[in-house]
Amino acid sequence: MLALSNVEVVYDKVFLAIRGVSLSLEQGGMVALLGANGAGKSTTLKAISGLLAPERGEVTRGSIEFLGQNIVPLGAARRVAMGLVHVMEGRRIFGHLTPDDNLLAAYRSGGSRSRLNQLRDQVYGFFPRLTQFSNTKAGYLSGGEQQMLAIGRALMTEPRLLMLDEPSLGLSPRLVQEIFGIIGQINRETQTSVLLVEQNATAALEIVDHAYLIENGQVVMSGSAADLKKNPDVQDFYLGGAGQVDYHNVKHYRRRKRWLA
Ligand code: ATP
Repeated sequence: MLALSNVEVVYDKVFLAIRGVSLSLEQGGMVALLGANGAGKSTTLKAISGLLAPERGEVTRGSIEFLGQNIVPLGAARRVAMGLVHVMEGRRIFGHLTPDDNLLAAYRSGGSRSRLNQLRDQVYGFFPRLTQFSNTKAGYLSGGEQQMLAIGRALMTEPRLLMLDEPSLGLSPRLVQEIFGIIGQINRETQTSVLLVEQNATAALEIVDHAYLIENGQVVMSGSAADLKKNPDVQDFYLGGAGQVDYHNVKHYRRRKRWLA
């Protein structure tokens, strides 16, 4: 469904943010992009959704194919119409509108009223918590509820691929579990493929089939979620250490870090 081949992104014509990233995702699959701050995860998502231009970024090398078509030359709106949707980091909902109106704003213009109602019911079915606030300003919702609304708004575009940038950011572990459970449910019940960017590798590896680790703008490791969970380096650097990292043993740490890079 999605294939990135050797993608390079440059900001401001000088800063190389991702360097030769290749990854793929099957129809109906769930894949995570994991990595630390600044690794290049959000940039990868923006390259796919076409949102680099407002940040003076551009894909300078490689190809991005979605459903067999190279989408690099296409604008962001065209990509949404093809079924690609990107829920950006930081829950950028319309705070002054009600959740209901947020959902309405995301629905395609010219679409039928009955389809709108069906999609809205589907969103409230996945996130029943939102129904009680449907007429309150969305800016008053809690962080978790705003994240639910941001995902719900993306679902109003009837995506084939839902890309989520750090949905766990700033949420309590219980809420992360709840939201990740619902993301899994959306994937199973609507066959929407999911590309999940996360720093919370523990939570992400519980729901995805496959993951890529990104460091310094490059994919340094990829594999099934089960294999990555067992990998000692992933455990040390991304899962908080099944066997804790001994940071006093700096030499050992650096050697393994070099190996990963
Ligand atoms: P985080 O988890 O903190 O969101 P990330 O893995 O998503 O990090 P990116 O936001 O993709 O990382 O950033 C990758 C690199 O590109 C970083 O060095 C960052 O400083 C740089 N970068 C990101 N956006 C821009 C921009 N608009 N202009 C210039 N450099 C940028």
